[in-house]
Amino acid sequence: MSSFVVGNNVEWIKHNLNSRDWYGSILAIDEEKRMLQIEWIVRGTEKKIDWSPMDRIRVIEVIPVVLRKSKSNIEEVIAKADLPAPYFEWEMDAKCYANGNSSFVGYSTPRPSTSLRKVLKELCQGCQVMTICRSVALQTGSVGWWGGMDEMDRLKWVQNLPEKEE
Ligand code: SF4
Repeated sequence: MSSFVVGNNVEWIKHNLNSRDWYGSILAIDEEKRMLQIEWIVRGTEKKIDWSPMDRIRVIEVIPVVLRKSKSNIEEVIAKADLPAPYFEWEMDAKCYANGNSSFVGYSTPRPSTSLRKVLKELCQGCQVMTICRSVALQTGSVGWWGGMDEMDRLKWVQNLPEKEE
């Protein structure tokens, strides 16, 4: 968590939401829970100096920071986790296929808005291959909405799984 700084040394976090670029600055850090409080601003620039109070849409959000673990740490956690293994043509049992879609629900945004999450959760609810879908996304490094979760929640989920037996 040491790479996060509140205040002057703002670390910019780009958040693509509904096809617009959002930028955020860190308001608070909860080291214990590994959570950041972020102020999201919808703007076309990363420079704080260009933000004007007139065109700000101010959203305060608390987000987990599992993505900020180093890539090798994340890969190690995923490799050790006791994840469900996909079976041949598991996609054919997916609820999103059953609904007549030819592809997954998956939105590419790493952190969908609250309203979009509600829609996506409902779409995946009751899917019999949900944990396999989640597992495949983790093992292939896929972003977006897979297995009823966004990328950050998947990374939290995998860290709480038991390790597979050698
Ligand atoms: S969990 Fe995966 S396979 Fe199931 S409906 Fe959602 S996106 Fe489709």
